[in-house]
Amino acid sequence: MSGNGFTINPVYKRVLLKISGESFCRESESGISMTEVTTITHQIREVVMAGVQLAIVCGGGNILRGKQFAEISETIVPSTAHYMGMLATIINGLALQDALESIGVPTRLQSAIRMEGVAEPFIRRRCLRHLEKGRVVILAAGTGSPFVTTDTAAALRAREIDAEVVLKATKVDGVYSEDPMKNPHAIRYSDISFRNVLEQNLQVMDAQAMHHCMEHKIPIVVFNYRKIGNIARVISGERIGTRVTMDGH
Ligand code: UDP
Repeated sequence: MSGNGFTINPVYKRVLLKISGESFCRESESGISMTEVTTITHQIREVVMAGVQLAIVCGGGNILRGKQFAEISETIVPSTAHYMGMLATIINGLALQDALESIGVPTRLQSAIRMEGVAEPFIRRRCLRHLEKGRVVILAAGTGSPFVTTDTAAALRAREIDAEVVLKATKVDGVYSEDPMKNPHAIRYSDISFRNVLEQNLQVMDAQAMHHCMEHKIPIVVFNYRKIGNIARVISGERIGTRVTMDGH
């Protein structure tokens, strides 16, 4: 049962949840607000209690994005800036870990960059073992390589751990024909194909991540995590947000 009196009947056994850095801070701010983090942790707890295996890839854009930082800095070389972005995701991962554990959710933080003092290294088989034991695995430091984003990391990890779906938690209700903040008449798609997303250049995940999910037929659901109970609804197969699939139905 979810906090809203809604019964959770998971249609997925193993899920990859992508949380962007913006979910860690207040609107138009940067850094970390634990109040914002709490919006998501209680929702995570209810789906884990319903037996769903959950791996989370967290972003770092609330602290630093490599591409932007390299552009404004004359002295930082681009690869260094991207490594700084990856380290930002570790900071978010640590915050998320303590926030989840404070409400009784067992977690493991795994990093794609070796950092034994603060996180386990990402080891696929160990990750799967944690998931099977009901621990939430927070996957930080993206892919461990510069010049890509945590969207790509989410797509790659989903394939690697055999997740049935990538859930992309956002602040909007799904994928729109145009930016709904700029055009109030923009249409929200409830289902759309990978091909249409790529052809129309719609903002779902970056193109590399989209291509990877398409190639390996991993559906993506884009939804608004700020509506409490939405993670449980998506996991129960309710048609909220936008589903991106091979056939778009
Ligand atoms: N990053 C990287 N390699 C990866 C994942 C991330 O170099 O595999 C860097 C990149 O500079 C990126 C930053 O880490 O801008 C933070 O991640 P991202 O921008 O994806 O965070 P989000 O937009 O989800 O908050």
